[in-house]
Formats: sequence, structure tokens, C-alpha cells
Amino acid sequence: MQNNIDNKVAIVNLGTELTQGFTLNTNAHWMAGRLRDLGFEVSYEITLPDDANVWSATWEMIRNAHVQTVILGGGLGPTEDDKTRSLVAETFGEPLEFHEECIPQIKAFIEKRGWKYSDANKIQAYFPHGAKVLENPVGTAPGFSITKDGVTLFAVPGVPFEARDMFDRHIVPFLQTKGVKPFFSRELRLAGIFESNMAEMFQKVQFPQSVSWSSLPVDDAIIFRTYTKESAEVLQDVERKLVEALDDKLCVVSTDGKTLTETVMDLLKSRGETLSTAESCTGGMIASEMVNLAGVSEVFKGGACTYWNEAKENIVQVPRTVLEKHGAVSEETVLAMAEGAQKAFHSDWAVATSGVAGPDGGTAEKPVGLVWMAVASKNKKFAFCKKFSGDRGQIRRKSVFKVLDALRRAILEENEQKSTCTKVQ
Ligand code: ATP
Ligand code: MG
Repeated sequence: MQNNIDNKVAIVNLGTELTQGFTLNTNAHWMAGRLRDLGFEVSYEITLPDDANVWSATWEMIRNAHVQTVILGGGLGPTEDDKTRSLVAETFGEPLEFHEECIPQIKAFIEKRGWKYSDANKIQAYFPHGAKVLENPVGTAPGFSITKDGVTLFAVPGVPFEARDMFDRHIVPFLQTKGVKPFFSRELRLAGIFESNMAEMFQKVQFPQSVSWSSLPVDDAIIFRTYTKESAEVLQDVERKLVEALDDKLCVVSTDGKTLTETVMDLLKSRGETLSTAESCTGGMIASEMVNLAGVSEVFKGGACTYWNEAKENIVQVPRTVLEKHGAVSEETVLAMAEGAQKAFHSDWAVATSGVAGPDGGTAEKPVGLVWMAVASKNKKFAFCKKFSGDRGQIRRKSVFKVLDALRRAILEENEQKSTCTKVQ
């Protein structure tokens, strides 16, 4: 990281609703990500209640750290708890001044939405002396920026989409004048590998001094992120070495930020093939994952939520004898479910799940967390089981991504076989 005070930023979010746990501070998270990509270093990311004393103490701390850019979010509304204007006026030792020219825009925005403009909104046109008013075309409250003693403070609204708009519209152009080099970054997404095993394999890779990395396990993958200010090529080279270091190359879900589900969709599209699902313990979550993606209609035909045995029998034609002999959570049942879905939806591929999500219903033979999953296509059918840990929600989510990963690997293996056949011919 560049050790330069020009690239240091503090993000402060004001709001008792944030510190009392009613609202999650998503603005700080979003802005930190944008600042990182722009090459800035966030020295502080602070959430404060609407309290003048806490604000003063925080301000002193930020000043002592020589941070030159402060983003202050929230508290620009017209109500009593919206204290940003007066707090900043006091901190900067500048009186509040009325900006008559802002009233028509505030009024027009309110009336356009069928609300009634009241004198209470006038307060939103007061700014500390010397402040620059920042237009907010997507909300009522304009923001402002003020510079004194080498510190620039941006006050922006708390409403997330307004905060984001203001950040891109007003703060980014200001930051760009500082000449800070942006970061190049790459994301390597891996599935079907433990983070500790990945770390062991990646130990063999020599990272250039300029390259930093982070590893983050998410629901569907481990995201291994590399970043540098040097060049995009340096990262490509590192990524190539990382992939080389992996024992199982099929672990690589994507190198361009695509999620596991997006990768599955793209693979199916590239083959012109379709998918359907029969879900018991995941109850439609796989279908929902797929349908979340724009453009999925080309490949996803539909899914059956077959929770009861009766549904497994009637909708995806699992033979009653199979259910009676092996039970709903079994290899035979999930295989029959996948085949049944494939037939019912006339799809090229189908996946199925059936398991004990808990917290009740586990037995010694079939404990909570045991999930059978199956993948079927015209060329292959297979089932496998996992004993997942965690609560009901975690067990169900893990099942979704495990079976989607099995599907991804099965498609890749078919691709591989196809290309070998082509070579032989
Ligand atoms: P308003 O005119 O709506 O009062 P404001 O600038 O005063 O705007 P706040 O009152 O601080 O903003 O917040 C408005 C709403 O925006 C909050 O009720 C909350 O739902 C949401 N919000 C505020 N700050 C954040 C944040 N940091 N992250 C996510 N949501 C936030
Ligand atoms: Mg408010």
C-alpha cells in the first residue's frame, strides 16, 4: 500500500438506527469496496449514534490520524434526529447559512412524488458557511462538501441509493484529482476444495512484492482475490501460477468474478442444453438460484418441489417400492428423482436433492445433515451423499451449491471427453 496521506479516507455513518441494530450499515461496505478499487485506503470505517459528543471525539481521532478526506453519511433529512448540518457547522466553526436557491429543487422533488412540501423541509437548504452544495437529483436532501485546514468533508444522505449516486457523482471526481493509482484486481473462484488445502497449494507460488491477496469463503466458493497497483499482466501471471499449483484443476469455477450458478448457466448455454430440478430438502432453492439470473430462461426449464413421498411418486415418478425399501433420503430415491425430472421437463440435465435438514428427524443411520444429491444426463447418472454441518439453513444452502458444483464438474468432464473424441477423429 502506498504510504501517502492523500490516499487515506475515513467513512463515518451517523444514525442511532444503525448503532441500535435496526439497520445494517451497507453504505460503508459499498463505499469501502469502491474506494479500494480506486486505490484509496480506508483508515476508519465508523458507525456512530446521533450524538454530538461521540461525533466530537471521533472527529478529533480522525484529525489526529491526518486523514484528508472524510465521507459523512446520513442525517441530512428534515427531522430532529438529522443532525449532520449542525454538527459539521460546529466542528468547522462555520455558521449555517440558508441557500434559498435550493428550495425549488427540494420542493419539486417532494411534489413530483405527491407528497406535501412543508416548512420543515427548509432545514435541508441550510449549509455551513463556505460549503459547496452537492446536487442530489435522486432524493430531496442536497449534500455538501467543505474544506478547511487541508481536510475535505463530504456530507451525503443515508438512503443507500442516494448515497451511492452522490458518491459516484461528486466524490469520485474529487478523488480522481488526487492522482492516486487505482488497483488492478482479479478474482479466482474455487469450489470443492477446503480453504486450508488451497492455502497449502498456494504456498508454492511466489508472489511479487507488489501483489497482495485475500481469501474469502462464501456460500458457493472460495474467492481468492489478488490485487496490485503495478499492472493487470502481473496479476494474470500470478493467477496462472495459482491455477498450476492446484492438484484438481476442476476446482476453478471462474477467473472473472462469475458465481458458481452463473458458470453453470454459461456452460449449459455453450452446449445448447437445458436443466431441471427435483428438490426435497432444498425445497426450490436450486430453482430459485437459477431463476435469479437474467437470461436463464434459455437453459432452465423448471423445477419440482417434491417434499412429500407422495409428490416424489406422483410428480417425478419415484417408484413406491424404491421409497418403501430405501426411504426418501437415499441414493436410489435421488437418482429416481433426477431421472423423473429429466423426463417430466424434457431437459438434458437434471439435479435432485433429498436429505435431513433438521433440527429434528435424524436417526443413527440417517443423521441430521445427511443429504443425498444426484445429477442425471443422457450419458451419465450419479448420486453422492454428504454429511453437512450447521443449522437447517446452512445445510440446505450447502446442498444447493454442492449439487450445482457436481453438475458443473459433470458438464466439464463431458466437454473434456468431447474434445478428446474430436482429437482422436
Ligand atoms: P432522510 O431524508 O431519509 O432522513 P438522511 O440523509 O437523513 O435522509 P438518514 O435519516 O440517516 O438519512 O437515513 C435514511 C434511511 O436510510 C434510514 O432509515 C436507513 O434505512 C437508511 N440508511 C441510513 N444510513 C444507512 C447506511 N449507512 N446503510 C444502510 N442504510 C442506511
Ligand atoms: Mg434522516
